[in-house]
Amino acid sequence: MNAQSVLITGGAGFLGSHLCDRLVAAGHDVMCVDNFHTGSKQTIHHLIGKVNFEVIRHDVWLPLYVEADRVFNMACPASPVHYQSDPVSTVKTAVLGAINMLGLAKRCGARILQASTSEVYGDAQQHPQRETYWGNVNPNGPRACYDEGKRCAETLFFDYHRQHGVDIRIARIFNTYGPRMRPDDGRVVSNFIMQALHGEPITLYGDGSQTRSFCYVDDLVEGLMRLMNHEGEPGPFNIGNPGEITIRELAEMVLRLTGSRSRIQYRPLPPDDPVQRRPDIAKAREHLDWQPGVALEDGLKETIAYFKKVVNQ
Ligand code: NAD
Ligand code: UDP
Ligand code: UDP
Repeated sequence: MNAQSVLITGGAGFLGSHLCDRLVAAGHDVMCVDNFHTGSKQTIHHLIGKVNFEVIRHDVWLPLYVEADRVFNMACPASPVHYQSDPVSTVKTAVLGAINMLGLAKRCGARILQASTSEVYGDAQQHPQRETYWGNVNPNGPRACYDEGKRCAETLFFDYHRQHGVDIRIARIFNTYGPRMRPDDGRVVSNFIMQALHGEPITLYGDGSQTRSFCYVDDLVEGLMRLMNHEGEPGPFNIGNPGEITIRELAEMVLRLTGSRSRIQYRPLPPDDPVQRRPDIAKAREHLDWQPGVALEDGLKETIAYFKKVVNQ
């Protein structure tokens, strides 16, 4: 695409900062909007001072008046630990943030991409999950602030599209990992790697037979870029890696790759923890010509190298 004005909410977060890198390198005029709730200035530090990059400290619950051609709406804590620590704030960010950014996109005539999630499928009763599945979400459990917030955001996106003609794209992102996850993020990959590097017990919730499918961040960002630049079908599109693994296998892989002698410590499974998760990515393959290319073991090696640097700083 030609150089454009691109707004990224949650631009100082894990995924947002990688998107900022990609868009700044491509020569776009990038506005990173963040309230630094779970994000950090460290993730975008290297971009500060570039003429085509600026940071705006702002909370997306509040209206924002800037001009943009494209909006990536990434703002929202993604780790269960963080989104459950202040659930009311999570709903406000997901819902009011979507309304404000859709209002902005409507006024500017901008295309807007929503970072939705596999959590809209909840504890899925269909496997693998296809975009046509409506999901199985507990509306009042501890994960609901995030799951229902993101479901409502999808509703708002489609209603602004149908009612106001807003040009929308919806990505349903599955578990993604890589450098720049916070060491204290609370999600499984960062927890296991940090525990292994420190020789602390690996905290395995439940019996570890639950599954997830982990996508490396570079693959994910490529999928989001393709979706944003895609003409036609707004989505939703599953963007994730269909390679499924049990959490116990993940623990064993992290132990092997770090050479750690940490032991596995069993902890209770949190309520409503989905049993099985794997994306069907046929739709993204067909419309976006996208599929992930980084094997889990290779991506984990990169991530471990990153966390080693963080530990030694
Ligand atoms: P993250 O927590 O690292 O980043 C979220 C960013 O949003 C942070 O920089 C945070 O400070 C910012 N933010 C939070 N609330 C805000 C608010 N009210 N106003 C402004 N900024 C705010 O998470 P991430 O992994 O980078 O996830 C980014 C997006 O992708 C989220 O919307 C998340 O729901 C979605 N997603 C991520 C994954 C994943 O595995 N990483 C999976 C599914 C969906
Ligand atoms: N909004 C915003 N930036 C804009 C335009 C709108 O933050 O550039 C907010 C505005 O405050 C409003 C929301 O987006 O509350 C929804 O906008 P919309 O135009 O749909 O609603 P209305 O202004 O008619 O309530
Ligand atoms: N998990 C675990 N130990 C941890 C953190 C998470 O066993 O220290 C499990 C968690 O119960 C879930 C899976 O790993 O089954 C993925 O958890 P995460 O919080 O990364 O993301 P989710 O996909 O549940 O949103």
